[in-house]
Parts: sequence; C-alpha cells; structure tokens
Amino acid sequence: MRAVITGGAGFLGSHLCDYLIERGWDVLCLDNLLTGAESNVSPLLSHPRFRMARQDVTRFIDVPGPVDYVLHFASPASPVDYLKLPIQTLKVGALGTHNTLGLALAKTAKYLLASTSECYGDPAVSPQAETYWGNVNPIGPRGVYDEAKRFAEALTTAYHRAHGVDTRIVRIFNTYGPRMRLNDGRALPNFVYQALTGEAITVYGDGRQTRSFCYVSDLIEGIYRLMESGEHAPVNIGNPQEITILEFAERVRALVGSDVPIVFKPLPQDDPKQRCPDISKARRILNWEPKVNLEDGLRLTVEFFRKQVAARSG
Ligand code: NAD
Ligand code: UDP
Repeated sequence: MRAVITGGAGFLGSHLCDYLIERGWDVLCLDNLLTGAESNVSPLLSHPRFRMARQDVTRFIDVPGPVDYVLHFASPASPVDYLKLPIQTLKVGALGTHNTLGLALAKTAKYLLASTSECYGDPAVSPQAETYWGNVNPIGPRGVYDEAKRFAEALTTAYHRAHGVDTRIVRIFNTYGPRMRLNDGRALPNFVYQALTGEAITVYGDGRQTRSFCYVSDLIEGIYRLMESGEHAPVNIGNPQEITILEFAERVRALVGSDVPIVFKPLPQDDPKQRCPDISKARRILNWEPKVNLEDGLRLTVEFFRKQVAARSG
C-alpha cells in the first residue's frame, strides 16, 4: 500500500507517517514546511519505504506511479499560525483540497481529509455531535480556518457523490503530544514553555472556556480505524475529558513542578467558549475510544519540551 500524506512534516502528519511506515506502507510526504519541520521526519528520511518532497499542494500535484491512499493534512492548525497566514490557510483548504482530491480521482485512491472541531465554531450545544452544523463567524479572524475546512468537507463530499471517490472525513479535536512546535502559540506549548522557563503562564480571558485534549497516539489510532472503515460522513475523533483552560494551566504548572504565576490576558475574538467531542459515533462504528489519560499524556509531552528547551539554552 502506498500513501501520499500532505502536511506529513507537521505535528500530526509526521506521527501518521511513522504509524503507516511501521505497518509496512510506502509513504510519500508532501510538505512545503510552512509550519512544519523536516526534523519531524528526519528519522524516516533514510527509510527505504519513505520519501519526502517539498511541494506546495495549492499548486498542481504530480505523483508518478500508483497511489492507494491520499491523506490531506496540510494546513496551518494553530490559531496563531492561521491568523498570520490567512490567505495560505484558505488556499490550502480550498485549492489544496481540490488538488489532492484530483490526485485521488486520477489514481483511484482512497482519500481522507483532516478536518476539525472548528467546523462547529463557537458551539451552542455541548458536547458536539457530527449532526451539529456549527456556529461560525465567516468573516471573523478564525473564519479563514473554519470556512476553509467547511469548504474542504463540502468539496470532499462532492467528489464522493459526483465522482465516486472513496472518501473519509475526520473532525479532529484538540490534540497534543511530542513534535508540537514550542512556539506555535497553542495553549499547551505556551503553558509548558512558560512553566519550564520561569515565565508567567498566560491564560486568555477568565480561563473558564473549555477544551478537551486528546493524546496524539490515540488520535492516530482512531484515524487508522477510520481509514479502514467504509464511513464517508464526518467522524469526530477526540478525548471527551473536558477541562477549563485555567485548570489546564494549573495541571501543566504542577506537572512541570513550577510555581510561576498565572496571569490573565484578553480573550482573542471568537474564541470558542466550550469544546467537547461527542464520540458515540467513533465508539460505535470504529470501536475506538481514547486510552491515554491527561496526566500520562502531559508527562510524555512535558518530557519532550524539556529536551527542546534544554537544547535551545545549551
Ligand atoms: P502543523 O502546522 O504541525 O502541520 C501542518 C503541516 O502542513 C505543516 O508541516 C506545514 O508545513 C504543511 N503545510 C501547510 N500548508 C501547506 C501547503 N500549501 N503545501 C504543503 N504543505 C503545507 O499542524 P498539525 O497540528 O499537525 O495539523 C495537521 C492537520 O490536522 C491540519 O489540517 C489541521 O487543520 C488538522 N487538525 C489539527 C488539530 C490539532 O489539534 N493538532 C485539530 C484539528 C485539526
Ligand atoms: N489560550 C490561553 N493562553 C495561551 C494560549 C491559548 O489561555 O497562551 C487559550 C485560548 O484562548 C483557547 C484555549 O487556550 O481558549 C485553546 O487554545 P489553542 O490555541 O490551543 O487552540 P484552540 O482550541 O483555540 O484552537
């Protein structure tokens, strides 16, 4: 089996490359390194079944030879990244999705779109099931990401209906783990970095907004089960253990063993007040649920960031 993974040098994409290589697949990673890093896949570069090509997937994609699966993960994903890169984010969600679907159609390959819980926007219902249509401000700052992904879901579904492409859509909820970028601006890298370096932890707003954090190995296992399933409609993959951001900051601080203060900063516009996946569908059709609890996942992630910080200061 041969997979093309766009965004394969990013946080999630690189874990997916590892996972498929371990299972005997051939993997071609396409990435323009906009928010990823070659170091994420450096252990794979000498592997005979792995290849990395620098490619902007918003431009025509030419892949010689057969392809069995196209997995479209390319897109800035951290709010700080996509606020800095609004046009690139819209283009990779729109043109990048079109090109990768075209590749899947030409190769008669299966296709999986990495979508997001941001399709639900600032949700009016909780937990969010796949049947909820969302509450998105299309012209707000987060709209560049949310609407790109909503368009990507619509286009993926259209290719399935009009061209019969064998598609999957995963709605990924907040995921964390090793290989997140220390400076990507997301809550977890910020909090860990701040606690490790003695800076005050910055909680935005009053910290009562909630998120639900899934450890990366659980997410990748859920995605693999979805790849193997015959489900074409979106499926939520995430950890339903919901926590306020203030409590999350306190947990990270305690785990790092730090006593830095927590300071409150303005809440970014349209920041979702609550986010928690309803994973009944994944439980039912994929027989999947997360296994790694927050304590264990955070421990592994803090260990990774500790080494990164030490390497920087050394
Ligand atoms: P990331 O920024 O680490 O990885 C994204 C990768 O895509 C990077 O390597 C980047 O260089 C690449 N990329 C961006 N634009 C590209 C382009 N035009 N051509 C080729 N490569 C390009 O982010 P991530 O957290 O690994 O997210 C991966 C995917 O999962 C994204 O599609 C994101 O929307 C989705 N997702 C992630 C999360 C999460 O919690 N991490 C949650 C929901 C959805
Ligand atoms: N957040 C925070 N302090 C930070 C970074 C983020 O309080 O230094 C908050 C952010 O406002 C949001 C939550 O943490 O409410 C999760 O943010 P993140 O950027 O990780 O991802 P999001 O779930 O918003 O896409």
